[in-house]
Amino acid sequence: MAVITLNKSIFRLVVGTVLFTTVGVLVSMWATTSSHAQKQLNRNLNVAQNVLTQVLASREQQLYISANALTLDFPFRSAVATRDEATIQSVLQNHGDRIEADLMALISLDGQLISSTNDALEKNTPFAYPDFIKSTVQEGGGTTLMLLDDKLYQVIILTVDAPRPIALALVGFELESALLAQLKNITQLEISLQVRQNAQLIFSESTLKPMQAFEVFDQQNQEFSWFDTVLLQKQDYISKSFVISEINEQAVWVVLSENIEQVFSEFNQLQTTISVVAFVSMLITLIFGAMFSRRLSKPLGKLARIAQRISNGDYQKSFNHEQHELAEVQALSSAFSAMQDNIQARESKIIFQANHDILTRVNNRYHIEKLLDDKLQLNENFQAIGINIFGFRGINDIFGYQSGDTCLRILASRVAELGGLTARLTGGELLWVPDSAQSFEHLALLKTKLEQPIDDAGVVINLKIAIGVIECPTQADSAQLLFRRMNIVLDEAQITRQLLLKFDPAIEQRYLRRLSIIVELKKVLATEQQELSLAYQPKLNIGANKIRSVEALIRWNSATLGFVSPEDFITIAEQAGFIDKITEWVIKRAVSDALVIKAAGIELCIAINLSAHDVMNEDLLPFVVQLLDQHNLPRSALSFEITESDVVKDPAKAIKHLSAFREYGFVVAIDDFGTGYSSMAYLKNLPVDTLKVDKSFVLKLNTQVGDQHIVQTVLKLAKSFGMDVVAEGVENQATLTLLQEWGCEYAQGYHICKPIAVSALIDWYHTHIDQNWLESL
Ligand code: C2E
Ligand code: MG
Ligand code: MG
Repeated sequence: MAVITLNKSIFRLVVGTVLFTTVGVLVSMWATTSSHAQKQLNRNLNVAQNVLTQVLASREQQLYISANALTLDFPFRSAVATRDEATIQSVLQNHGDRIEADLMALISLDGQLISSTNDALEKNTPFAYPDFIKSTVQEGGGTTLMLLDDKLYQVIILTVDAPRPIALALVGFELESALLAQLKNITQLEISLQVRQNAQLIFSESTLKPMQAFEVFDQQNQEFSWFDTVLLQKQDYISKSFVISEINEQAVWVVLSENIEQVFSEFNQLQTTISVVAFVSMLITLIFGAMFSRRLSKPLGKLARIAQRISNGDYQKSFNHEQHELAEVQALSSAFSAMQDNIQARESKIIFQANHDILTRVNNRYHIEKLLDDKLQLNENFQAIGINIFGFRGINDIFGYQSGDTCLRILASRVAELGGLTARLTGGELLWVPDSAQSFEHLALLKTKLEQPIDDAGVVINLKIAIGVIECPTQADSAQLLFRRMNIVLDEAQITRQLLLKFDPAIEQRYLRRLSIIVELKKVLATEQQELSLAYQPKLNIGANKIRSVEALIRWNSATLGFVSPEDFITIAEQAGFIDKITEWVIKRAVSDALVIKAAGIELCIAINLSAHDVMNEDLLPFVVQLLDQHNLPRSALSFEITESDVVKDPAKAIKHLSAFREYGFVVAIDDFGTGYSSMAYLKNLPVDTLKVDKSFVLKLNTQVGDQHIVQTVLKLAKSFGMDVVAEGVENQATLTLLQEWGCEYAQGYHICKPIAVSALIDWYHTHIDQNWLESL
């Protein structure tokens, strides 16, 4: 669709309407006027025809009176009878002068001119209209129009009676131009007299110019057309013609013509006036239209430009609130203003939401990333302090997400109050960039302040936070690196329980190693697990001098990381949450090795190390039982060890789950006893059969008196609870001897045998079956 401007559209509308109206008025006026004029003209012509006829009749009457007086004149009649030509001539002359006749003549009955006062009728010549003479003689008189010597006369002829007709007297008046002028004055019409013989014009007398007189005859009885008269100006007159006399095949026509221009002069004037008025009104409307459209299009154009500006995203510029007299434009302008304000408000809201965390209303990670990058670009030195709610998940689990949110909100506001920049990174993790560097001591103080218990609708929640500190730009020169290292340092703080920790490259090294262990271990567990193996370390039953049980210890010889100590990867797998996969593998491998050992004719109980997570896993026991049953192995084929520190974390839960192991008929040992600081109160209730003294107390037992006291105490304690004791880390005979002297039931350590593969174990067993361990000194 073609687009036109408002100005143009108003211009077209105005011009179109005025033109249409003007043409309409003119046409209808023409139609009315012309029909009226036509009628008027016809009426005029008819009147004129009557007038003309009357005039001719009155002249005829006058002629008759004159001719009659002449024919009754006695001397004249005597002169005619006697053919006294001189008297005749003189009477005709005198009579003619008296009545101002143009033609006086005497004609013999046989049509010879006897006497004449006008050269048009020559004496002694035959009269030009013999037929008329005959009819006149018969009727006693006659009147006609006749063309004589190029002049048209109205004549009357009467018989001169004595008492019989003896001659004819002719009296005539010329129908001259003066008469026509006179008639024109009366009728106000142009009058032409034309004599036509066989349609050929042979005489013409007219009040018009000769050429016009010729044309008007053809225009008689014509309807006038607007084109011909007004536009082409072809038609000047409208005419009516009629024959007034006919003699000798000569017809005398009268043509009455009325000037159209005159009739229409008023109309034309009106027409001009209307056209001028139309033009002027068009001009005025155009001026007003232009003014109006300018008044309309100017603010509209301005609004369009504002809309364009807004659509380009620039709506910060304040809206110039001009008052406008057109209500609609005013309304539109207000709507635009409101729209801009709304968009601006909405954008501010969106920008706020895009840059801030909805829950805590502090900066979000994306925004702080930009702010930090800006600072780093400017080479600013600053401290980034990560604050993580320790055990945030636990708060959510125990108190509900709402309380978790409240804790986070309050902690964020406490941090924000300290000034500087505050942001929420993820979950329960905040980042604080103080305005000035904080000392370690001050941070410790702040930590206590931030950890103030939170009262959430009567529920008091104790906060514990971990704080990590990174110096920028020395320890992180980009926001991304800062976030990554903050994660590492906070992770380390939580794992190591050093809840206020500064970043140090060694932490990152450990973290990266931990990360690669997780990745590799998961890969190994998902494949055929050829990198994993089990080593078995025999336990010597000191009293019986027999090997009745072994401990299964996992080994991982990674293709990429080399040999990884179980102490490293077991803890990491526990933290990463996939220890159950390892335990499952160990148990399956231990059961299949138990079958190998059994097949070798050896009866051994294999002790499996469990993590706290395994103990709590309710699917584990049914799985173990089903596996043993499947391979027809008794419960005594396996036993379990759980470290003291794991038990200490949640003793009540540990007691409950360990009881289940007991109920299923498994022997359970507390591993690394002495390191977990378990209290006597629950030790007596622990559903375990054995305590394994941690090797740190055994390794140098033969020399360390302190260790000797500890081990002796553990032995007494175990005895009082009816438990057996295993001493692990026995590296020499002196220690073994001491243990035997003190009544320790089991010994395990390099001195007896290092952890070895199952085939090696079978060989070792056969080799050492008869060894007297206590006499081997
Ligand atoms: P643990 O259960 O206390 O195992 C005994 C650790 O002491 C073993 O270390 C063993 O090789 C070592 N050891 C035994 N005798 C001596 C000795 O005379 N001198 C010295 N210096 N060390 C001795 P390993 O195999 O490195 O295992 C370390 C820990 O990893 C284990 O301590 C156990 O807590 C854990 N672990 C090993 N295998 C498994 C497993 O399959 N599952 C679970 N959950 N933990 C395992
Ligand atoms: Mg163990
Ligand atoms: Mg141990």
